Amino acid sequence: MPNRYFRNVFPDNTNLNYSYYVIWRNKAISLTKWIMKNASSSSSNDLYTGTTGIAYMFYRLATSNTYDTRMSTSYLNKAVEVLNLKEYKFNEKKSSQFICGDAGINAVYAAIYHQIGDEKTSEIYLENFKKGLTICKPIDFHMAGGDEYFVGRAGYLFGVLWLEKVFAKKIIADQDIVELCSTIVESGRRYSKQKKSMFPLMYSYYNKEYLGAAHGLCTILQVLISFPQFIHKEPQAKQDIKTCIDMLISLQTANGNFPCTMNEIGPKQRSEQDELVHWCHGAPGIFYLLAKAYLVFNERSYLECCLKCGDLVWNKGLLKKGPGLCHGVAGNGYVFLLLYRLTHEVKYLNRAMKFAEFIFIEECIQKSRTPDHPYSLYEGFAGTVCFLEDLVSPDNANFPFLDVF
Ligand SMILES: [Zn+2]
Repeated sequence: MPNRYFRNVFPDNTNLNYSYYVIWRNKAISLTKWIMKNASSSSSNDLYTGTTGIAYMFYRLATSNTYDTRMSTSYLNKAVEVLNLKEYKFNEKKSSQFICGDAGINAVYAAIYHQIGDEKTSEIYLENFKKGLTICKPIDFHMAGGDEYFVGRAGYLFGVLWLEKVFAKKIIADQDIVELCSTIVESGRRYSKQKKSMFPLMYSYYNKEYLGAAHGLCTILQVLISFPQFIHKEPQAKQDIKTCIDMLISLQTANGNFPCTMNEIGPKQRSEQDELVHWCHGAPGIFYLLAKAYLVFNERSYLECCLKCGDLVWNKGLLKKGPGLCHGVAGNGYVFLLLYRLTHEVKYLNRAMKFAEFIFIEECIQKSRTPDHPYSLYEGFAGTVCFLEDLVSPDNANFPFLDVF
């Protein structure tokens, strides 16, 4: 038996059983009750493991358009209730940090208060979010690495993209967006030159050159190509970004995975036994960059890389680390939901449903590790609920905050 994942014995077919939708819906509803009961035990209030991540889950249910008005209102009330569990004091220093800091907290508070119609309160949090821009503008604002997704500029910009969808308006002026994207590119060029990297843009986080979604190159490149106002204005930057994407693809292994860091290339490659097939490290996170690149550059080879990621995740993605998004079964299941949206092939919907099914079978429950934060959005069941809900309406499915459409 492999160390890190359960062997996948499910049939890979197209015989969808739609009666499962009722099951997922009921599982999601009972999980939300259990999460609500335990939400106060969260040790922080950020998106990753804290209360704001749980409130986001309730907000997502409330706005999914798949519940009646009574249920939607009840979920929205729960979202506010969860926000009120922890006292929140704005911390300007952390105001640009999205997944693990105040930018994410302020964005979700703004969205929830907007949804309940309290525009005055919503505006306060939106203004707090905007303050993050000034904090992360200086190129060296975070010495350990200020460009990545969790606490860096890439995360902040994903926050902007999300808020623009929520409020259906511009949140940050184009000029500032272009400036921030240019800073990311400049930061990558400087680091690459200094370290003589083969990539025209390279970044490090606490001295490691990560490639995956958590702290690595892929989410940084993904956010840059998500702003047409930037890539159309800066053709040289666009070229460097595309070169990086193509070089990253050249590192895809025969089985479809990617090294976690630049240190793991060539002779230092992880053994198959040790390779990580997580959203945070490995193909399941780099997949979103490839999908976005396919939509932006319209090159078939990018889609083919996505399909390879999908086959890898099908074979090695039933992780033993629990049901979460970051390094768990639900996070990996999201790969199939996006493949379904990209290809409209029912086979991928079946794969997503099998991953959902696996979360609740005895083998998984008995032999999986319990996450440190079992109710949270990224490590725990709040993320699982988002995944189960997206199975019910797969045409709109999207990994939290990383929608490529
Ligand atoms: Zn992880």
